Amino acid sequence: MTADVVIVGNGVLGLSVAVETALRDPALRIAVVGPQARPGSASVAAGAMLNCFAEVTRRTGEHPASRAKFALAREAARLWPGWLDRLAEAAGAGAVPVRHARGTLVVLGARTTADGAGSMRAIRAAAEEHGEPFEDVDPYDIGFLEAEAGEQPVDALYLADEGAVDARQLLAALDAAAAGRGVIRIADEVASLVTDEDAVTGVRLSSGTALPAGAVVLAAGAATGRLIGQLPPGSVQPMLSGAGVALETERVRGEAVPYVVRTPTLVGGCGLHAVPLGDGTEYVGATNHVSFDAPAGPRLGIVQALLSGCVAQLDRNIAFSAVRHWHHGMRPVTWDTFPLLGHGPLRGLYFATGTYRDGFHGSPAIARHLAGLLTGGAAPEDEKNDLYAVFAPGRKPVETMTADDAVERFAEMAVHVAVERGMRLPHFLDAEPIAAACRQLAHTCMELLGVPVAPAPEILHAVSEAGAERIRQVADSLRALRRRD
Ligand SMILES: Cc1cc2nc3c(=O)[nH]c(=O)nc-3n(C[C@H](O)[C@H](O)[C@H](O)COP(=O)(O)OP(=O)(O)OC[C@H]3O[C@@H](n4cnc5c(N)ncnc54)[C@H](O)[C@@H]3O)c2cc1C
Repeated sequence: MTADVVIVGNGVLGLSVAVETALRDPALRIAVVGPQARPGSASVAAGAMLNCFAEVTRRTGEHPASRAKFALAREAARLWPGWLDRLAEAAGAGAVPVRHARGTLVVLGARTTADGAGSMRAIRAAAEEHGEPFEDVDPYDIGFLEAEAGEQPVDALYLADEGAVDARQLLAALDAAAAGRGVIRIADEVASLVTDEDAVTGVRLSSGTALPAGAVVLAAGAATGRLIGQLPPGSVQPMLSGAGVALETERVRGEAVPYVVRTPTLVGGCGLHAVPLGDGTEYVGATNHVSFDAPAGPRLGIVQALLSGCVAQLDRNIAFSAVRHWHHGMRPVTWDTFPLLGHGPLRGLYFATGTYRDGFHGSPAIARHLAGLLTGGAAPEDEKNDLYAVFAPGRKPVETMTADDAVERFAEMAVHVAVERGMRLPHFLDAEPIAAACRQLAHTCMELLGVPVAPAPEILHAVSEAGAERIRQVADSLRALRRRD
């Protein structure tokens, strides 16, 4: 068998690209490769909050790449309603209904630092600047939430136009739309890329079968890192895994949240959130633990922090809920934390990955961009504002800060996490000794890497937990990228 387009990965990105491309050019033979059970998939584990303004932090406006990411999120927000309709249309009689919860309440818990307060200010400023409707909410008058005593939120705002979809239903809807549009499904894994000089000409499956293709799109989530490792050194930056855990629970006490309730995005973390799933069930998430390689399983101490945080800061009645399922998936995290979107370093190779914490939300916009490239031309709006240029897969890692800033933000993250987890110091001590120890750890990590880079705090944390050999491999790859013209 040969295909015009082979898409490696059957998560939300691989399938969205497949469906959008098939809708644009029904004559193309498109194959999606990926195991049916989707082990490790971020999409399966996602809360699928469709948040753009609720994701804003005080860093969002600081760097062109962060601003481009915000612009991508706004574009996705515009596309979502129409995208759900198009999926239903593409699936025809097999269409799967997708629950779409509207509204997002952002609450700032009592145990916050300047980081959390800064995020709330930044959300309000961005919403005002872009005319996004929002309401300030009295944090002492949120009837359906009952934070633990002493944990009352100190600030809250409501974004009426942001919400969430049910991730598992959306994947089923994408499966149905792909089937409706004749996308070929191959329940296998891609073991390697097949190349001919400077072009990718297909893939080899784990079963040993070769699958020739005109174009190959890498959308295998965090596992894309293994395929990146097969490219010439310095072609594409390393990919890390952002392990995330969440639970699906059924209310026993109190009411399920009527819309998304979440804390703001914090340095290095993804905040706490509860997402309504209908019939008294909720999605309670999520952890974020970045490491060089996928861990054997979720870390107990991190899950403990998630549960105690949600019960204390969101609603103590959640503690009575019945656990129905738990989800564990790997977010695809690039070294610079920005996505890899568009043409790869070899002819015929494309990337749709590296979306980290908000790939679900971004998926209709990313699909639209990739489909434009695969069918011979970017969408006019994309050309106009060159939105995706900054996310070119072959770029040198984007550096949004200096090495000193990186050290300081690492210390900030550690102090914030400590405060959130209930750290209380005697009156004669401030957090400076803790921050100083964390700065020292950050310096040691940078020295171990031996490359003059300024990574995000969670990436530095991954370095602090990695073995010497893996650090050397990643450092070699970063050096090769930096040496390239
Ligand atoms: C707990 C959690 C909560 C999240 N919450 C949100 C949220 O609220 N909003 C949001 O926008 N984003 C959220 N995200 C992030 C979002 O889920 C990801 O950015 C997005 O789902 C990535 O999609 P993907 O298709 O690239 O990867 P994945 O969903 O990981 O899919 C990759 C697929 O490729 C398959 N695969 C792996 N290796 C191969 C191979 N060699 N060959 C073929 N197939 C392969 C895998 O089995 C998998 O099915 C969350 C993530 C997690 C983990």
